[in-house]
Formats: sequence, C-alpha cells, structure tokens
Amino acid sequence: MPESLDGETAIVTGSSSGIGMGIAEAYAEAGANVVTNSRSLERAESTAEDIRDAGGTAIAVEADVSEKADAEKLVEAAVEEFGSVDVMVNNAGISNIAPILELTEEEWREVIDVNLTGVFFGAQAAGKQMAEQDTGGQIINISSIFGSVGVQGRGPYNASKGGVNNLTRVLAVDLAEHDVQVNALAPGFIRTELDEQTRESGDDDETLDEADYPYYGYDDQHIENRNPMGRFGTLEEMANCALFLAGGDHYMTGEIMHADGGWLAFGWGSKGR
Ligand code: NAD
Repeated sequence: MPESLDGETAIVTGSSSGIGMGIAEAYAEAGANVVTNSRSLERAESTAEDIRDAGGTAIAVEADVSEKADAEKLVEAAVEEFGSVDVMVNNAGISNIAPILELTEEEWREVIDVNLTGVFFGAQAAGKQMAEQDTGGQIINISSIFGSVGVQGRGPYNASKGGVNNLTRVLAVDLAEHDVQVNALAPGFIRTELDEQTRESGDDDETLDEADYPYYGYDDQHIENRNPMGRFGTLEEMANCALFLAGGDHYMTGEIMHADGGWLAFGWGSKGR
C-alpha cells in the first residue's frame, strides 16, 4: 500500500536535483508539505515550483547544510510555514576524487563538512524540534554503498558515508525516547549529477587505462557487469524506499537500508569475466 504523508511536514536537503528532488516530489505526491533546499534559492525554488504545479505544497529555503545556523533555519522555516517537522531527510552530499596520499586538508574537510557534519546538524536541529513537538518523527540519512567498502581515491566520501551509517545508529539510540526513528538509505549507482561528475573523472587523463578502474571514472559497462541486477537504480526506486522509511510503520530504527541491486551482496569482481 502506498504510504500517505497527509498533513505531515518533510524537509529534504539538497533537493534541487537527483535523489533529493525525487524524494521531495514523491513526498509531496503522498500529501506532505515539503521544504525543498539548496545552497541556491533559485535551484530550490525550481523544485518547489514543480511540486506546486503538480498540485502539491512546497516552500524553498536556501541553506548550506554544513552550517549549523543554516540547518536551524531550515527547521524554523518549516515550523513557521507548516507548524511542525515530521520527516527530515539529510540528503545533500558531494564527492571528490584524489589519491589518499595527495589529498589536501581542504579536500578532506569539504566532503566531511557537508556529508557527515551536515547530517549531524540536520538531525540535531530536526531532532530537537521533534522532541519538543512530542509527536515522534522520522529522520532519514542518505548514505551510500561506499559507506561499507573502501573504493580507491574516494577517501573522504567513503569515510563520510561510513560515519553517516554509525551516526544513524547512535541517533536512533539517543532519539528513541522521543519516539523518533532514524534510518539510513544507502543507494548503489543512480544516474544523477553527482554520478555524472564521478563517472567522468579522469576521462581527460590519457595516462589512465582500464587497469585504473575504478580509481577514476567508470562507464555503464563497469556498473552493469558488477551489479547482479545488471543496471543502475532509478530515482523512483530511491523515492519509494524513502517513502517507506518516512511512513514509520516498520519497527526499524538505526537500520541501513541498502538499495543497490545487490552490489554489496556480490562477492565476485565482475559478472562474466
Ligand atoms: P546530486 O548532485 O544531484 O544531489 C546533491 C544535492 O546536494 C544537490 O542538489 C546539491 O546542490 C546539494 N548540495 C551539495 N552541497 C550542499 C550543501 N552544502 N548544502 C545544501 N545542499 C547541498 O547528487 P545525488 O546523487 O542525487 O546525491 C544525493 C545523495 O545521494 C548524496 O548524499 C549522495 O552521496 C547520495 N548517493 C548518491 C548515489 C548516486 O549514485 N547518485 C549513490 C549513493 C549515494
């Protein structure tokens, strides 16, 4: 049965594109009042406008999730406009690629600040509001399969997502007394701007060849061969998982839901090789 989020308020960070946009639109379709977000008001507004055009309810808030005050601003805006925060999706994320021995402090911090510290700020701000409301709530942190494995050249991203997984568990334990469930959704390969950026890394470096995969870029064949389901996941599939988690009717908290077509389950290097 499709989840109904009728009358609930959901914040989705980084919802101007990709997985976050898919989740924001699905939540609105399920009846939620949605707060869309991006570092650019124009980009956040574009998703909110699409939602309103489709008959849903949404406002856009410009905020940088790596800033504590901005995370608080998101929650304040939701409460001011809709009266509550019932679902918080910490989705905003970035990545970079560099060999770990050459990685600069700045490169390390920029990813950790958004992907891990940003999730903490978002969960804390929403968690405080949910505890005050005393009506429970759902916090969903967008992790990654890369939170469970080490992939060459992606140190800060892998570390941030591994951190998100265990942060999810501790948040679940700490917030259970307030009836707040906290889970993570860990996607496999989904076609988005982030995927595009990662996919193309190294394309212009002629010193790299097949043996360097997956240090730098990858192509469709790499992903399809490595994945038991033989394909990328879709935005709709990710939104369905996020809808299920937001519904709350699942006795799950502190859980990492992997939606990856079997990528993590697969013990071999590549199908058919
Ligand atoms: P995306 O680039 O389309 O979306 C990321 C969004 O986050 C963008 O809208 C961007 O503007 C926003 N953002 C970045 N930094 C921000 C900040 N400081 N404050 C506010 N917003 C910010 O990419 P996506 O693939 O949809 O990524 C969404 C989430 O899914 C990320 O956490 C990513 O790590 C995760 N993920 C993606 C994949 C994939 O294959 N695409 C796989 C696993 C996990």
